[in-house]
Amino acid sequence: MVSLLEVDDVTVVFGGNKALDSAGLRAERGQVTGLIGPNGAGKSTLFDVIGGLRKPTTGRVSIGGVDVTKHGPAKRAKHGLARTFQRLELFGRLSVRDNLLVAAELGPERRRASRVVDEIIERLDLHHIADSSADELPTGTGRLVEVGRAIAARPSLILLDEPAAGQDHTETERFGELLRSLADDGAAVLLVEHDMGLVMNVCDQLFVLDLGKMIASGPPEVIRADETVLAAYLGDV
Ligand code: ADP
Ligand code: MG
Repeated sequence: MVSLLEVDDVTVVFGGNKALDSAGLRAERGQVTGLIGPNGAGKSTLFDVIGGLRKPTTGRVSIGGVDVTKHGPAKRAKHGLARTFQRLELFGRLSVRDNLLVAAELGPERRRASRVVDEIIERLDLHHIADSSADELPTGTGRLVEVGRAIAARPSLILLDEPAAGQDHTETERFGELLRSLADDGAAVLLVEHDMGLVMNVCDQLFVLDLGKMIASGPPEVIRADETVLAAYLGDV
């Protein structure tokens, strides 16, 4: 079976060091897939490779069975990819509504962009801050708006880099439900996250990176008991 996202044998070298060393992963529609590992393991670099911001030294990325390795970010977006960044990338002076509108106007439903925005405001419960400017928001809320921008493009593949950082317990719990519902609607959700409660609750499959290598993959209950993963990462969490 062809997975929605297939990443194989990706190597990225920075100044002689391998940030990624022949790493691969899969993400399926209808599932939340987690990518975990210690700081510096290469998670954000892998997202840059999948998103088309960084060309790998070796390796392939395919989305929906199409090899997109040579495509830039805009072309990958046409194949259904959307992402958020570890660093917030909102337009600070624009309102939350306008941040969402800019994204919706770039998406496939641009003719009904303001309706798409209304739906997202409803779905993410952003009514109370819709007219606030983005740079007034607490970080956790800003991340939620970034997810809103990603889903405004109606993606089939959503990459989320530490979206729950800065959220409190209740926000994180609701966020987990949101991720679940995006997958239930048919998207493939790929999540980088350090909050192990969220990861273990919401993910169907996990991939574990350490020093640029994929050291384990499987369902959360298997990963949680994996000796190599415990030694490299979970033992410290
Ligand atoms: P993670 O997201 O898992 O914390 P990163 O992908 O950010 O890890 O980083 C992986 C490794 O690559 C780290 O050793 C980091 O210092 C290095 N690295 C990341 N980006 C760059 C860059 N632009 N130039 C040089 N080294 C980088
Ligand atoms: Mg990172």
